[in-house]
Amino acid sequence: LVSRKKKPENTIVEVNGVRIGDGNQSFIIGPCAVESYEQTAAVAEQAVKQGVKILRGGAFKPRTSPYDFQGLGLEGLKILRRVGDEYGLAIISEIVNPADIETALEYVDIIQIGARNMQNFELLKAAGAVRKPVLLKRGLAATIDEFINAAEYIISQGNDQIILCERGIRTYERATRNTLDISAVPILKQETHLPVFVDVTHSTGRRDLLIPTAKAALAIGADGVMAEVHPDPAVALSDSAQQMNFDQFDTFITELKPLVKVD
Ligand code: PEP
Ligand code: MN
Repeated sequence: LVSRKKKPENTIVEVNGVRIGDGNQSFIIGPCAVESYEQTAAVAEQAVKQGVKILRGGAFKPRTSPYDFQGLGLEGLKILRRVGDEYGLAIISEIVNPADIETALEYVDIIQIGARNMQNFELLKAAGAVRKPVLLKRGLAATIDEFINAAEYIISQGNDQIILCERGIRTYERATRNTLDISAVPILKQETHLPVFVDVTHSTGRRDLLIPTAKAALAIGADGVMAEVHPDPAVALSDSAQQMNFDQFDTFITELKPLVKVD
């Protein structure tokens, strides 16, 4: 059902006035994790200032170590919703448990399924059973074919509001946190009718590579770019090495805006 052979025209996911998939390019920005109302609101203010319409923030964080910050959970979703309503932003946040999909409907505008859960089939089915856009991230070691099949799990339950997100894959290369598979973007656009985003933060893990990789993503035809922004990355509870501070975000948007396709 996700195949372009079955449906030649692009699927459009409309969120907060942004028509993702119709040829326009947009941004999803926000902190790695929701840490407090003040921190989230501060980032939201910058998003609004730069014309970004979708705010991200992790509430349920899938951390490699059980001793790392696990996120604020439901409290984090509540903060996001409040901030989204106050600033006129759509909200995206990761859900890790199929049982939380129903709860999430109240708080988020887009459900994120993270790389580590790309083949959590019960989660995919639960996200497919609701009427809410889903941003599905590519698994750390997933082939493009496996990625497409994961999206098929969602659409097979009736939900076609899916955004695919390339976020880097694990290779032997250690210069970057993951290897951004930029050619996945046109392949996914050819093989499926779904919109495709590129997460430059988690694919590179390097602040100095965010602008060049985002340029590449826009040039190769991605429908948008996701990146992490934090008021003070040095003290961030997760991903402190690659989140942008507000000045860096300003430069990021200034450099990228002229390259963004708008109809
Ligand atoms: C995230 O976007 O917050 C995240 C954890 O990313 P990924 O699932 O791609 O590692
Ligand atoms: Mn992160």
